[in-house]
Amino acid sequence: MSSGRDAFVAHTSGSQDRSPAGNRGLLVNLTPGATVISPNRQHSLTFDREGRLHLYFRQGLTYKRSLSSELHLRFQDGGRQRRQLPSDEARSIFLEAYALAGEVRARAVGELEVRLCEEILRWTPESLAAERRRFLSCYRPISILPPDQYLSIVLQATEGCSWNRCTFCSFYMDRPFKTKSPVEFREHASGVKDLLGAGAALRRGIFLADGNALALSLRRLEPLIGAAKEIFPDRPLFGFIDLFSGDRRPLEHWKRLVDLGLRRVYIGMETGLDELLAFVNKPGSAIELRNFVEELKGASLSVCLILMVGLGGREYRSAHARASLEVLKKLPLDDSDLIYLSPFVEQPGSTDYSERRTKADLTPMTEEETEAELQRMAQIIRRLDLKVSRYDIREFIY
Ligand code: SF4
Repeated sequence: MSSGRDAFVAHTSGSQDRSPAGNRGLLVNLTPGATVISPNRQHSLTFDREGRLHLYFRQGLTYKRSLSSELHLRFQDGGRQRRQLPSDEARSIFLEAYALAGEVRARAVGELEVRLCEEILRWTPESLAAERRRFLSCYRPISILPPDQYLSIVLQATEGCSWNRCTFCSFYMDRPFKTKSPVEFREHASGVKDLLGAGAALRRGIFLADGNALALSLRRLEPLIGAAKEIFPDRPLFGFIDLFSGDRRPLEHWKRLVDLGLRRVYIGMETGLDELLAFVNKPGSAIELRNFVEELKGASLSVCLILMVGLGGREYRSAHARASLEVLKKLPLDDSDLIYLSPFVEQPGSTDYSERRTKADLTPMTEEETEAELQRMAQIIRRLDLKVSRYDIREFIY
C-alpha cells in the first residue's frame, strides 16, 4: 500500500508539519483509493484515482460530488444544513477546487506530482459535468443506500421495489419492478466498471440494488452475483431485503448467499408496532420479523435494522418506541449487527402518507421532537449492548 512516501510532503492528519519552507501547512495523504491534499488548515480536497473531485472542505463548508457529478453542500448553521448546488454554482466550486490543486502542482514532486498531472489536473468543470451523462447511461437513479454503503459499488440487479405501496415511501415510484436478465446485468456491471475506472479503488463492497434483489430465486440470482464477482472480484456483498419478500426464502437460500459473499442485509423494519406498520401499508409483523432475523443470523449474516423515528406522529410516539424496543430486545443480535434510527421525513405531494395522517388526526412531530426522540431511543438501544447509528435519508449521496 502506498503511504505517500514519494510525495513532496506526505502526512497523515495529526502528524507534525515537516514541510520544507514554502510548503508549510501542506498536508498530503496518498492511498490506493484516494488522493487527499490539504494546502492549508482551511481547505482539504479529496480526489478519486481517476482524479475526479470527491470531497472539498472549505472553512466549515463541505462539498460532496456524487458519481453523477451533482455537487452537494453541507454545513452547520443552527443545525445541519444541506442543499444541492445549481450547475453554475457547482461549476465555480469545481473551478476553485481544481485551481487549488493546480497551485499545489507547482510545489509537488514524486507520486503527488504524478497523480496531479496524470489524474487530477486533466479534469475541467465541463468534463466533470459530462460524467452525469455517463452515469445515466449505465444507472437508473440510485434512490437510497444505507449510510455505511455510500462508498460501495452499486449494481442494480433489480430496478424498483416489488411492493412499492408503503404510504411513506417515494424511492421507487418512478419505475416498475424489474429483474435484469444475466445479459442486461453483465452489460450494466461492465458500464459501471467503465464509469468508475480507477475510482473503483475508493469503493469497498458491492451493494446489490434496488429493493429486494436478494429475494430473487437462487436460479436467477446466482448468475447475476457470478457476473458481479467476475467484474469486481474480491468484494463483499450487501443489499436491502424486506421482510415480506425475504421470509419466503428458506435458510439454505441465505446460507448459499453467504457462501457467495453476502455479508450484511439491511431491513426496513420501520416500527415494531404492528398497528403502525399496517397504517403505513407495509406488510409484516413483529413476530414475522423475529423469525426472519433468527433465520438470517442462523445463516451467519450480519443484520441491519432500520427504524423510523417520528412515524405516526406524536400520537404513536410512545407506543412505537416501546414496541420497537421490545422487539429489539428479543432478537438474537450481536456486535456484528446495527440498528439505524432514521428521522422520519414526510413528503407531502409525493406520497399518500400526509393525507392518511391528516385523515387519522395524527400530529406530525417537529424536527426538534424527532431529534430528541431519536437521541432517547439511541441511548436505550446502547444500553441493550447494540450498535446504533443515525440514518438521515436527506444526507444520501452516491
Ligand atoms: S419502504 Fe421498502 S418495501 Fe415499502 S415501498 Fe419503499 S422500498 Fe418498497
